[in-house]
Amino acid sequence: DASDPKLSAIDTSTLTITKTTTPKTPTPHNELIFGRTFTDHMLSLEWTAESGWLAPNITPYQNLSLDPATCVLHYAFEAFEGMKAYKDKNGHVRLFRPDKNMARLNRSVARIALPTFDGPKMIDLIKEFCRLESRFIPQTKGYSLYLRPNMIGTQRTLGVGPPGSALLYLIASPVGPYYPTGFKAISLEATTYAVRAWPGGVGASKLGANYAPCIVPQMQAARRGFQQNLWLFEDVDPETGRKEDFVTEVGTMNLFACIRDEKTGQPELVTAPLDGTILEGVVRDSILTLARERLVPQGWAVNERRFTMREVVEASSEGRLMEVFGSGTAAVVSPVRSIGYQGQMISCGLPEDKEVGPVTLQMKDWIEGIQYGEEEGHAWSWKV
Ligand code: PMP
Repeated sequence: DASDPKLSAIDTSTLTITKTTTPKTPTPHNELIFGRTFTDHMLSLEWTAESGWLAPNITPYQNLSLDPATCVLHYAFEAFEGMKAYKDKNGHVRLFRPDKNMARLNRSVARIALPTFDGPKMIDLIKEFCRLESRFIPQTKGYSLYLRPNMIGTQRTLGVGPPGSALLYLIASPVGPYYPTGFKAISLEATTYAVRAWPGGVGASKLGANYAPCIVPQMQAARRGFQQNLWLFEDVDPETGRKEDFVTEVGTMNLFACIRDEKTGQPELVTAPLDGTILEGVVRDSILTLARERLVPQGWAVNERRFTMREVVEASSEGRLMEVFGSGTAAVVSPVRSIGYQGQMISCGLPEDKEVGPVTLQMKDWIEGIQYGEEEGHAWSWKV
């Protein structure tokens, strides 16, 4: 059984490092395109049902060699993570809440019968990898090294069953700021004809199989002039007995709305709850924690609760929709200008001459301040 704790152990003392003999020149900052260029090395660990995790290796970045019958290629035994390493103004490399990414990857792989692993040991290996690749991490704020841990089932079989072997590997890509010339507010298409996830499904797991089916709706939204899909889930509201479109999340981001209460006027920061249909974003959790610490004392309400497009539409038409933004590792936050819904354009409270609202901007500043070590000694920033 892949969930046997003995099979999760990683022995970091057996790490071997084989350095490249053909080191690359890092791409100049201003030429970086997300996910196109990679560092010199990769980190790999093999697992077998008999022996558990074998000795970890750091090797030159290289192709994988897979038998055409390898189970990942047929039944999508694959889960991944997205996290970043940052360089602070003193040249120290830092990770942002890597324990969260490891915990999420363990939950994702467990859902598809892939083996779990010792998260803290994996973080030690990632730190070692980051030290080796440090020269690829730009020191300019906004720049970072995107880290992509990936686990695949490697058993050679067409039989549908739990993989008897797996590969956990990590590659890394230097990336620039998501908004190199400043924020650009996006418009979302509230998607009613396709559903990303559903109760009892796997929307909360970071499986490759959750992403491929989103590309066609994304292309259709793009054709109509929208940058991303806003994924909804239609359900009966138990309070009213009415069918409603519940707001879930965006393309590859969680979604937050700032809504002023119609009776009291109190501002509320709201996001969908972790009910299994949305990804438990690391930035989502960080925003909620910071908002509870720093916005609640200023009179804000902060809630994880189900909310509907009806609420968003009403708040917008009554001038109570203050701000809407997405959150995720790639951009930290992404301001939303408008949402296309049932043939109408819903304005999200941003003045026409502005690309970002105050709460969105505040969150970016707080989180980047921690990521780049400007906020001294914060527990979320792990020195490598
Ligand atoms: N939702 C989805 C579907 C995602 O792919 C991501 C990116 N990992 C997020 C939300 C945001 O998660 P995080 O804040 O951990 O990057």
